[in-house]
Amino acid sequence: MTLKVYNVMTRQKQEFKSLTPGVVKMYACGITVSADAHIGHAYQSVAFDVITRYLRYRGYDVRYVRNYTDVDDKIIANANAVGVDPIEFAEKNIVKTDAEMAALGNENPTIMARATHCIDDIIAFVQKLIDSGHAYASEFGDVYFKLDSFPQYGKLSHIQTNKNETGVRKSVEPGKLNDGDFALWKSAKPGEVSWPSPWGAGRPGWHIECSAMNMKYLGEQIDIHGGGRDLVFPHHENEIAQTEALTGKTFAQYWVHCGLVKVNGQKMSKSLGNGILLQDVLAKYDADVIRFALLRNTYSTDIDITDNFFPDAVRHIYKMYSVIRDVNARTFDNVNSDKTAEMIGKIVSEFETSMDDNFNTSGVTASLFSWFNFITAELAKKNTEYDLRAIVAKIVELMSVLNVLQFDPSDYIASAQNKILAANGVSESEIESAIASRASAKANKDWVTADAIRNEMATRGIVFRDGPNGTTWDVVL
Ligand SMILES: [Zn+2]
Repeated sequence: MTLKVYNVMTRQKQEFKSLTPGVVKMYACGITVSADAHIGHAYQSVAFDVITRYLRYRGYDVRYVRNYTDVDDKIIANANAVGVDPIEFAEKNIVKTDAEMAALGNENPTIMARATHCIDDIIAFVQKLIDSGHAYASEFGDVYFKLDSFPQYGKLSHIQTNKNETGVRKSVEPGKLNDGDFALWKSAKPGEVSWPSPWGAGRPGWHIECSAMNMKYLGEQIDIHGGGRDLVFPHHENEIAQTEALTGKTFAQYWVHCGLVKVNGQKMSKSLGNGILLQDVLAKYDADVIRFALLRNTYSTDIDITDNFFPDAVRHIYKMYSVIRDVNARTFDNVNSDKTAEMIGKIVSEFETSMDDNFNTSGVTASLFSWFNFITAELAKKNTEYDLRAIVAKIVELMSVLNVLQFDPSDYIASAQNKILAANGVSESEIESAIASRASAKANKDWVTADAIRNEMATRGIVFRDGPNGTTWDVVL
């Protein structure tokens, strides 16, 4: 089987071949920590986390670098607005975002790079671009990339820029020779956070940090460069220009971009006030639910967070854990090992076929439903021929790639139930005494009271199930 990856550079799904056999070097542009992380950041970070996990499942040694942009105009403005030092402001946001990413079930990237930790590398990179004629310093202490020195500019986004046209905007940035030239180094305004450089005190432009960090941590050429689709132009186009102008080599073999997030059909934006912060989602839902909801979409598609987006996932995840728990509580004595092995083979093959098709997690989650339908149907039989425990164990093992269904099912169910009981204002002892009262009402043939008790609990989100060993209860989702 062959892994195929959609390469935004070629606009095609291509067979994945790493530069060095068995090794993958991947970089994904991370968060600019000017504010709290939102659900779009979650979508992207989960996508690259799963891509990393699947490449490892496929046997690759993955070196995954993700950066934090911890100095830029917005960070400075937002820090100033609350009277905090911008470096401290960024630091605080990084600590918070790290914790949220962990709570989301993301494994730490191999290297978590930060712009302010790479200033020397950035300055050295900019100097090399000046020395090779691809950049120039203005008399005001800014350094610009000379766009007309890189004729392939636009090859990723297919956007044609007017490289040499002089325009009215030129006057906005004094010292810039051509409109398309972009800043590599920005001179510091009075009182602004800055670092010394050969061009005076200043700070790096946004684009150069990623070129410099790629070079520092991964070298001149990498396998996969990722980020959100909104970064294709100009950010990634500029990264390509900076790096390839210097090395003369293809920078990234595959450009992989994550889709964007809408909320109830509308673009998430500050002005609409419809942004969803990651901290608010994490306060309501656990990592399994959030990841499953996101991964029902393949990373490259846009997602629309409707009112049912997470509640649907709550139901599905709860149901799957319940089935796993029920399977693990049973013994299977009538097992046909050939049939079981065949089913496991089918499951593994469906999983790999989907994931090999550009990390199609949407396909995986669709398969997951059909596997669980199968298990539920077999479990309902008195004597199934399948070793459902072995099948479930394999599914759980495969789902470590999505990092869902990895909790102990009984623990997960107990904690999910507790949340719902708390939300509905009902306690376990109340439920138990309701079950007892209903049993005695039934014993007295007082069906009206028995039904009233059942209905009352139903309005509070509790369902009773009568079985040969008495009545059990569950939550209604
Ligand atoms: Zn970047």
